[in-house]
Amino acid sequence: MDTTLVSQNRLMQSIDRRRRELSELGPCMNGSLCRRAGKCANPDCECHKGVRRHFSWQVTQAENGRTHTIYIPADMVDQVRGWTENHRKARKLMKEISALCEKYIRSAVPKLRAGLKRKARLSAAEEGNGHEQ
Ligand SMILES: [Zn+2]
Repeated sequence: MDTTLVSQNRLMQSIDRRRRELSELGPCMNGSLCRRAGKCANPDCECHKGVRRHFSWQVTQAENGRTHTIYIPADMVDQVRGWTENHRKARKLMKEISALCEKYIRSAVPKLRAGLKRKARLSAAEEGNGHEQ
């Protein structure tokens, strides 16, 4: 059995497994979810004396060196946390798929090269027969 074919089949199975995992992921959202302490409108509130009392949730996204902030309503925090986790998982899977595709190509190269060399040898031999003496 062709060992290149066996390893290519195996690589394709690994790729397909990750593609399935990707398709089963729910919505994806770039960014990291974090909780921030804020100040209220009441100047007598402890929050104005450095006590962390009021919290809000936000997703921050780094984009072209800038940070973009999206405020998240409290009742959406769990849902959005899932989206950002899905994005992280998707990114990891995409990276792995890309690396496996590269491996797949590399596994085909020795075979291609051997084929080209054989072809080159054959055509050189043909030319030799045709033109020398
Ligand atoms: Zn306050």
